[in-house]
Amino acid sequence: DTARADALLEGLNTEQREAVLHGGSPLLIVAGAGSGKTRVLTHRIAHKLATHQVRPSEVLAITFTNKAAGEMRERVESIVGPAARSMWVSTFHSACVRILRREHAALGMRSSFSIYDSADSQRLLTLVARELDLDVKKYPARALASKISKLKDELVDPDTYAQSSGAASGEADQFDAVLSSVYTRYQQRLRAAHALDFDDLIMTTVHLLQAFPEVAEHYRRRFRQILVDEYQDTNHAQYVLVRELAAAGEQGVPAELTVVGDADQSIYAFRGATIRNILEFEADYPDARTILLEQNYRSTQTILTAANAVISRNPGRKPKRLWTDSGAGPQIVGYVADNEHEEARFVAEEIDRLGDAEGVRPGDVAVFYRTNAQSRALEEVLIRVGLPYKVVGGTRFYERKEIKDAVAYLRAIANPDDDVNVRRVLNVPKRGLGDRSEAMIAAFAERERISFGAALERADEAPGVGTRAVTGLRAFAELMSGLRDLADSGAGPAEVLGAVLDRTGYLAELRASDDPQDGTRVENLAELHAVATEFEQAEPDGDLTDFLERVSLVADSDQIPDVREGEDVEAAVAAAREQGVVTLMTLHTAKGLEFPVVFVTGWEDGTFPHLRSLADPDELAEERRLAYVGLTRARLRLYISRAAVRTAWGAPNEFPASRFLDDVPEELVDWKRKESSMAVLRAGGSSGWGSGASAWGGRGGSGGSRPRRDLDSPVVTRKALPSTGATFGSATPRPAGDVPSLEIGDKVTHDAYGMGTVVAVEGAGPNAVAKIDFGTDGTKRLLLRYSPVTKL
Ligand code: ATP
Ligand code: MG
Repeated sequence: DTARADALLEGLNTEQREAVLHGGSPLLIVAGAGSGKTRVLTHRIAHKLATHQVRPSEVLAITFTNKAAGEMRERVESIVGPAARSMWVSTFHSACVRILRREHAALGMRSSFSIYDSADSQRLLTLVARELDLDVKKYPARALASKISKLKDELVDPDTYAQSSGAASGEADQFDAVLSSVYTRYQQRLRAAHALDFDDLIMTTVHLLQAFPEVAEHYRRRFRQILVDEYQDTNHAQYVLVRELAAAGEQGVPAELTVVGDADQSIYAFRGATIRNILEFEADYPDARTILLEQNYRSTQTILTAANAVISRNPGRKPKRLWTDSGAGPQIVGYVADNEHEEARFVAEEIDRLGDAEGVRPGDVAVFYRTNAQSRALEEVLIRVGLPYKVVGGTRFYERKEIKDAVAYLRAIANPDDDVNVRRVLNVPKRGLGDRSEAMIAAFAERERISFGAALERADEAPGVGTRAVTGLRAFAELMSGLRDLADSGAGPAEVLGAVLDRTGYLAELRASDDPQDGTRVENLAELHAVATEFEQAEPDGDLTDFLERVSLVADSDQIPDVREGEDVEAAVAAAREQGVVTLMTLHTAKGLEFPVVFVTGWEDGTFPHLRSLADPDELAEERRLAYVGLTRARLRLYISRAAVRTAWGAPNEFPASRFLDDVPEELVDWKRKESSMAVLRAGGSSGWGSGASAWGGRGGSGGSRPRRDLDSPVVTRKALPSTGATFGSATPRPAGDVPSLEIGDKVTHDAYGMGTVVAVEGAGPNAVAKIDFGTDGTKRLLLRYSPVTKL
């Protein structure tokens, strides 16, 4: 055993060893990326077991994914044998489920309680909203779900919320009062159904431990080693849960608590994670020991220097230096593309070239981007050149629900007899058309031997359909025939798609929601709109049917099994490597992982950092941490690229270089192409990179230049890769200096929508996006540089 324990300490540096050997007081390991934090946790458990300081059943280790938990358990098991099986190694959610299944009696629940996923809880919220007779347009289920989820992250139960919001005393504003009653009713119905939603798992466990001292005492006695990985991303509820479990209890001796994390990698503030948990650990646990790890074992010095340079610009952080003795390694490769398609082609060509020149396999490569919508351009090129890939932690572009919904509409418009697609969109977004009415219409259609769509127009003749349903069904039929008229009048696919998203209220519903996922859906739909626009440019004679044919071809070429949302990220990555396929993922999903070759794409102000962070210092700091996470995933080769023009929000935009690039020391980067061909062609235009001058004067640059239309970049005409036919839309931006600077409350006029009032502004200067309420025309989100808006 001693030999085994000693062997565990070999292959660790001094600080790592100290962390493994530490006993007694709480232990905080704060350290930069790749410094062995996760490795220390594993070795610490194994060592405590091998030296009999703790029994397996006394261990509780919390990891970020189930796969990480599995790996940790396996490694410990290989050292101490099958006894390790009685350790608890799991995510926060799984640990809570285990506790709740055991203690269900105290809560008055069946042990077989159900766990509602987000679709289930939204369905329940829709029922609650109906029961309370709420206007679903004003209070969409998604928005309510996201608010309630945030309250639960903060451990605010319905009664507490009724008090704190003033709803109980009648002093709350309308929204808070509604939210309070929805929350109360929702929670009652969950309870009646013996169900818990995802956020309840943590909140209920905390309440259980706090309300039942004997239950808390049981777990405090049981768990003597508590370890938490990625501690920087715990939210308040998780923080309190750990505190409850690691409290002293009656025996007076608290469990040994070890948390590891990196404040610089905190990237889940939008989900309620609070960096405070790590920054104030020492204050919360006065006798805590802190160990810093500074040696990085993952990346080359070049990669680390770049990552350090970027993160060091964040205010209020504890400075730390990461170093490695693995040598400088190759330079970072940089590339400035004319547009996102060319950027994607660059990535594909490099992967190909690395394969030929250095034997790099696709499975060694990961490509990161800021938002899911960006995967589309990459996917298209990878499909065309036949490089196998996998989108991890998200759904392939054409398999995303919002994209399928939109395409289903287009199909239903192109073919009124396409029953499957007509029925798919019948109640999307929700129009109160129930399954029963649908079944009645289907039966009527069958009897009359007409299509479902045709039957809709004669809904009043169908037996068993109530008058209200008839009205709804006919309204839907009219909506569809209006859209068909538009398509028949020669409107292109982009215009038809725009009309679909607008007239159905689909986009409005997503925009009204403050769930970040719905923001993503809007971005994806904007991306689909861009696909349609490009199609129109490339094939001026093509109609809706031609466009749909092309979409089917691309969508069907997905040969590799899809990775679903909520699926185990590390398992998917491992599978991708085994299959030898390129891994595509967002920067958020990449946390904790490592790859020999990493491409971080889209380094543009407005893409990364994200547009909505530009005006908010806190959000900008989080974006910078995301950059740090991304750069530090690379072991050997790192690529950074940007596109001078990217289609976003439905229009091609010229984006300045990301401000983060300015911080990467120039000698570390080998720029294969440093300026887009536009920058060269533009009279007097200074380059975006290096000088700090952006292409359109975002930060004291030259400004005033407009993107050229119909750019023929050298790469587009290259024959090695087939062209995606990318050209640019007709939207002509105004010079940066002419973008009106708007504030909330300003009155404006718009050429098409007329008078409006500004209700929100995101970003500044040429990146500014304003949300403007145009009264009966609705609220629009407009990129001011491309919108005919005048301030009054
Ligand atoms: P992140 O912040 O990204 O989660 P981390 O701090 O958890 O990173 P690990 O994933 O534990 O870092 O380690 C990074 C890499 O370095 C792994 O491949 C690990 O096996 C290796 N490593 C860690 N410590 C040592 C060591 N002392 N000797 C050799 N390799 C090590
Ligand atoms: Mg780790």
